[in-house]
Amino acid sequence: MSAPVDLAHAPAAPTRSTGAPDPQWLAELHDDVVATSGETRTVLAPATGEPLHELPLSTPDDVADAFARTRLAHLAWARAGFAHRRKVLLRAHDLIVARREQFIDLVRIETGKSRGQAFEEVYQAAAAARYNALAARSVLRSRRVHSGAPTVIDARVRYRPRGVAGVITPWNFPLSLAAMDVMPALAAGCGVVQKADEQAALNILELRRALVDAGLPGDLWAVVTGDGATIGEAVTDRADVIAFTGSTATGRRIAAKAAERLVPASLELGGKNPLIVLDDVDPERAARQAAYACYSSMGQLCVSPERIYVQRGVADAFTEALVRTIEGLVIDPSPRSTGDVGTLTSHAQLDRVRGHLDDALAKGATVLAGGVHRPDLGPYAFEPTLLADVSPDMACFAEETFGAIVAISVVDDDDEAVLAANAGDYGLNAVVLSGSVPRARRVAAALETGSVNINEGYRGSFSSIAAPMGGSKQSGLGRRNGPDGLKRYVESVTIAAANGPIAPPNSAREWRRLEQPMLLLLRAQRALRRR
Ligand code: NAD
Repeated sequence: MSAPVDLAHAPAAPTRSTGAPDPQWLAELHDDVVATSGETRTVLAPATGEPLHELPLSTPDDVADAFARTRLAHLAWARAGFAHRRKVLLRAHDLIVARREQFIDLVRIETGKSRGQAFEEVYQAAAAARYNALAARSVLRSRRVHSGAPTVIDARVRYRPRGVAGVITPWNFPLSLAAMDVMPALAAGCGVVQKADEQAALNILELRRALVDAGLPGDLWAVVTGDGATIGEAVTDRADVIAFTGSTATGRRIAAKAAERLVPASLELGGKNPLIVLDDVDPERAARQAAYACYSSMGQLCVSPERIYVQRGVADAFTEALVRTIEGLVIDPSPRSTGDVGTLTSHAQLDRVRGHLDDALAKGATVLAGGVHRPDLGPYAFEPTLLADVSPDMACFAEETFGAIVAISVVDDDDEAVLAANAGDYGLNAVVLSGSVPRARRVAAALETGSVNINEGYRGSFSSIAAPMGGSKQSGLGRRNGPDGLKRYVESVTIAAANGPIAPPNSAREWRRLEQPMLLLLRAQRALRRR
């Protein structure tokens, strides 16, 4: 029996004073990538734009090798049973909590988030380990169901792990997204080959390390790296089930690939999330809620709002309070900062945000707050930005910006707010701010999104790991988290045995004898409302 983990004590991360990971720590993490080519990619630190580390790159042959080894390891893991898997995942939970300083540092170093926003990821990863450890048995254990002919047939359903899951994740929430897709796969008895985004592979490797230290067989979760088009496709070509998180454009390609191979795929894609402000809010409080929702992780979060619809009665007071709140946010991406927000993560993100802003300004939008690149604070630092007068001809009206730009418009009543929120191709998350939760619930019921958060931006639904998370329309297919998240990784198998005292009819004579009793049985079941 392994010793309990001390959850109160968190050793400092092996990070140097510059914020860079200690070379020995890096070398150990690099060793865990399945990569034999000797080739590397230089990953830049968002806070400085300087090289952070040289990430080993996998080849398609490495991916094939990873699948072969994981497939073998998965056989014993599937046989090991729920109790053993629960023990490993609960110990992993404890190690994640105990190693929180390592994880917080890695999230900050790779993504440029503030400490609080990095802590969100640690909390989420630990919760994903705990939920799936404790829920897997009750969701996936074999069960007896009503058979077609009681006393004749005994029918049971069992859930067979699908085999090796191909998990593909983006760079923006590396730790929590990996945990939300990998933990249920492992809890269900599958193995995992994960294609990590290069920008944030260290987080995933550190998470894998916690699981291995908790007792997970090393071959059961392989991490591969490299281009989406080659290494990502090498994963989707082999996986028995695919869990993809990323853009809608890539999600479509993966859906086509899954359809060709007839393997299931859950697709967690982009959003253009609305935030509705009803006219009964306290404007100051609502402004603080909205600012956190929109600009945490610098808006590089699939569920963060990019469109605000404020009701006329409170529009002036709310907008004025929101501008003031945004202007008070402390931007500081340095890894030891205590700022409110960090930085955009890469040059590509900066280009995308500037592109949307320039396009909007050229077409008549007004900047109410922010809108300025801040190289004095960091190469990709950008002021959280609020725009008014945004119109349908602007890219940021309906396309996902995925960073720091939010448009505000005034609406007259609840119905107009709902119609505006439901317009567009996406349907991931929505937010309703109101002084009355029952009123907000009525508005929420009319919104066409996979989640709605009331008086909170996204953390209410995101942290509720027992509840499904996913998108409608172009925001995705399938759901992660909760029982749905576990059931993605299994196939249901019905095992029916003719073991009753009466045998099913096998000849015309037996049919003649049993037809009337069977009709009686149908009537009795109907009367008893038996399903
Ligand atoms: P992306 O689609 O460019 O890349 C995501 C991952 O897919 C990366 O690891 C990439 O290397 C890989 N990839 C790319 N092409 C591939 C292919 N053909 N086959 C297999 N894998 C491939 O997305 P991104 O820009 O890195 O991430 C941002 C997007 O992700 C945004 O649209 C955001 O809304 C979305 N996102 C959604 C959720 C959610 O839960 N719904 C969560 C986070 C991010």
